[in-house]
Amino acid sequence: MLYLGSHVSLNKTNGMLLGAAKEAASYGANTFMVYTGAPQNTRRQPISEFKTEEAQASMKEAGIELFTVHAPYIVNLANTTREGHFEFAVDFLRKEVARSEAIGGKQITLHPGAHVGAGVQTGIASIIQGLNEVIDPQQNVQIALETMAGKGTELGGNFEELAMILDGVHYNDRLSITFDTCHVFDAGYDLVQDLDGVLTEFDTIIGLDRIKVLHINDSKNPSGSHKDRHANLGMGNIGFDVLNELVHLPEFGAVPKILETPWVAVSHKEKRAPYKEEIAMLRQQKFRENFLENIVQDH
Ligand code: FE
Ligand code: FE
Ligand code: ZN
Repeated sequence: MLYLGSHVSLNKTNGMLLGAAKEAASYGANTFMVYTGAPQNTRRQPISEFKTEEAQASMKEAGIELFTVHAPYIVNLANTTREGHFEFAVDFLRKEVARSEAIGGKQITLHPGAHVGAGVQTGIASIIQGLNEVIDPQQNVQIALETMAGKGTELGGNFEELAMILDGVHYNDRLSITFDTCHVFDAGYDLVQDLDGVLTEFDTIIGLDRIKVLHINDSKNPSGSHKDRHANLGMGNIGFDVLNELVHLPEFGAVPKILETPWVAVSHKEKRAPYKEEIAMLRQQKFRENFLENIVQDH
């Protein structure tokens, strides 16, 4: 099964989780990603407001089997300098785990954190401590640490740092990885020159089977830029062919692939989501391959 979807909005105006599921279906998606509220703040509606049951029914009808959750940007387990932030981050994440369980999200993508000047070792130690405080071995959802671009003091910009975090957490079977193509490329792993080499390196240091979410984004900047600017598929420095190849690798057959590409301008005033077309582009390639394979088999 090829699970393809995108970031969709979850808010009151859009009809909460039900609206998110409908938006995903309108793109021809069979998976999707939501923030449980605004990505830039931590105000959240009570679980009873999410329209979870209606959403599950709507998902079933549309053939959407699973969705992922993204934790808000401002939760930073590596912040040891701002008084009270660590406690706030641990508390928010515990609630996010409970919320995800309640609404049926299986993976919570988390930016590992930024050390904000305290140094790599201190930041990583703080992330490990935070995850050890958050994780309940009984929880069903996994926290999917995201590969980062290494912008500013961001941690998780190389595979070794993610491996250190995984090593330090007691119940690390409750941890997985979100592999973001733009971030990995931007961090300096050149997916264009050597896709196999990058995946082999990831497999050696972490293990490909840890990857439970793929973020499929092209990159506005060359590999090693550490800028984290997403581009539409085929319009950046990674290019469509490499992203398409990665999406169709059998190793990632069960992994949801989520687009976080920018909305496109359709006039001077109006922007719209590119996801319907981008999902179709990625699906079409596979249909074309299957078609060609079948023709060869007939002879
Ligand atoms: Fe992210
Ligand atoms: Fe991402
Ligand atoms: Zn990004």
